[in-house]
Amino acid sequence: ETLDKGLEKSKTTFFSKLSKAVAGKSKVDDAVLDNLEEILVSSDVGVDTTLKIITRIESRVAADKYLGIEELNKILQEEISGLLSETNTGEATEFVIPKDKKPYVLMVVGVNGVGKTTTIGKLAFQFKKAGYKVVLGAGDTFRAAAIDQLQIWADRVGVPIVRQNMGSDPASVAFDTLQSAVAQDADIVIIDTAGRLHNKVNLMNELTKVKRVMQKVVSDAPHDVLLVLDGSTGQNAFEQAKQFTAATEVTSLAVTKLDGTAKGGVVIGISDQFKIPVKYIGVGEGIEDLQVFNKHEFVDSFFK
Ligand code: GDP
Repeated sequence: ETLDKGLEKSKTTFFSKLSKAVAGKSKVDDAVLDNLEEILVSSDVGVDTTLKIITRIESRVAADKYLGIEELNKILQEEISGLLSETNTGEATEFVIPKDKKPYVLMVVGVNGVGKTTTIGKLAFQFKKAGYKVVLGAGDTFRAAAIDQLQIWADRVGVPIVRQNMGSDPASVAFDTLQSAVAQDADIVIIDTAGRLHNKVNLMNELTKVKRVMQKVVSDAPHDVLLVLDGSTGQNAFEQAKQFTAATEVTSLAVTKLDGTAKGGVVIGISDQFKIPVKYIGVGEGIEDLQVFNKHEFVDSFFK
């Protein structure tokens, strides 16, 4: 229900545009396909993924000679669902982590302003609520505000945070955090990292160092590298995904601010282009406004 509410804008825009594009038509023709292409691109699905979808529908039209409008909706849902399925196989709706990793180390990456701190706070809240013992690490030591903001979230949620002064080595913070987590018998550690992108080699070196140092405490850490992207920024989100995946092995995605955009299609394009599962979506500024991504609910919210 909250998902529907959160994705209201994407839903209304996508579906109403689609309805308009096919109004008065009984079959899928070139004009319908052109319109559909435009709708998908303007919903931030991305050009490559849009062309993939259009090509598949075109081949259906070519094979069947006649494709009705009712069927178009169904096929479109199948295609989108199929693209999401390549990576988003889970049907999960709960905040769970594997039992055999303790502490489970979640490293969070992303540029400033995308909602990284907020997402960490919301995750800490959900994991704590689910019964896990959570420790936060303030590894974005480049900005004093990042450390302070994370502290505010830690206090709000009621979980411990490990921090050092601004300017200290992020790897050292990560090391301390993991040691503290092990000492406290914590279930999950969420490590923030600095989100500077201006120098790719620096970014790569820094993230590699953080990982290497964490492995001195937990040999197979990090268990998840979560890239946070702002879903309302379209091409920027694609560009950031490109840069971060080049710098480190990103294993999952969180797409934020889907409540504030009519362009939820970025989730579809990013899943398809980067083959990394979208694990969480942000649908508001509040502590509860983070959801485990569920592809069925997501596709439904577009077509309902
Ligand atoms: P950071 O610089 O990446 O750590 O970004 P912050 O976590 O400080 O978030 C930047 C702004 O985005 C804040 O005003 C947040 O409240 C807001 N924000 C984060 N996630 C969401 C979301 O899912 N929806 C909305 N509407 N705002 C969000």
